[in-house]
Amino acid sequence: MDVAEACGTTAPFYQPTGQEEAVFRHAFRNRIPVLLKGPTGTGKSRFVEYMATQLRQPLITVSCHEETSSTDLIGRFIIKGAETIWIDGPLTTAVKTGAILYLDEVAEARPDVIVAIHPLTDHRRELFIDKLGTTVPAAESFMLVASFNPGYQRGYKELKPSTRQRFAGISFRYPDASSEAAILIQESGVEEGVATRLVKIAARIRNLRELGLAETVSTRLLVDAAKLIHSGLPRRLAVRTAMIEPLTDDDETIAALCDLADLMI
Ligand code: ADP
Repeated sequence: MDVAEACGTTAPFYQPTGQEEAVFRHAFRNRIPVLLKGPTGTGKSRFVEYMATQLRQPLITVSCHEETSSTDLIGRFIIKGAETIWIDGPLTTAVKTGAILYLDEVAEARPDVIVAIHPLTDHRRELFIDKLGTTVPAAESFMLVASFNPGYQRGYKELKPSTRQRFAGISFRYPDASSEAAILIQESGVEEGVATRLVKIAARIRNLRELGLAETVSTRLLVDAAKLIHSGLPRRLAVRTAMIEPLTDDDETIAALCDLADLMI
């Protein structure tokens, strides 16, 4: 399980794309759990990091995958010498200390994770630790945030309506062209002309629905291309490497996308 704890004082760069900051602040104030919905690489994790520093809250991030279980989140007994001791998992730590807990890709986790978080998402705001037989009330500032990729028709897991309805939702989409160019400039140091061209190429590829790509060019891939260009890799090669190769393994599609991008970069 991949767990990261952060307690940053300088906010990471985040380019707002709508009313998400205001929504998150009010959700935090009212202790409402939030679900960030959107394709990979659209800034969901960056947004949570930014909001945690804005709100001066510690952030604990758990990247969920199909093996992530409630034991991973809640805690377990371990044997240390002659003793058996209890170790809190990241969810228990966040509940006790009043951190923001971010469950990245929550739908990928095992179903018992969903069962464990339910009592934290309603008026009870408590965590039941079955192995200890105790119930832990959440500290005042505890907040649950989860992310979810709604591309379920392409092999992603769904979230049940009964779970979704426990969260307020914020949708993340690809930013508009000028915001996305601003992100590239800030994240990579690339010049404005190159950023604008990369964003235009991304817009063209995103519109090529007939290619049937499982996922299209994300802002993350654009940032990677911009970084490679800024560090001196030839532009065409950078675009191919960062923006086209990750999308498909089909040689014909790669060649067609390279032809298109070569004319635009
Ligand atoms: P997600 O969690 O949605 O998969 P990330 O938050 O990890 O996506 O975003 C991937 C990268 O894209 C970030 O590291 C950052 O460089 C860039 N990025 C995307 N959206 C934004 C944004 N709105 N502001 C700043 N950076 C962004």
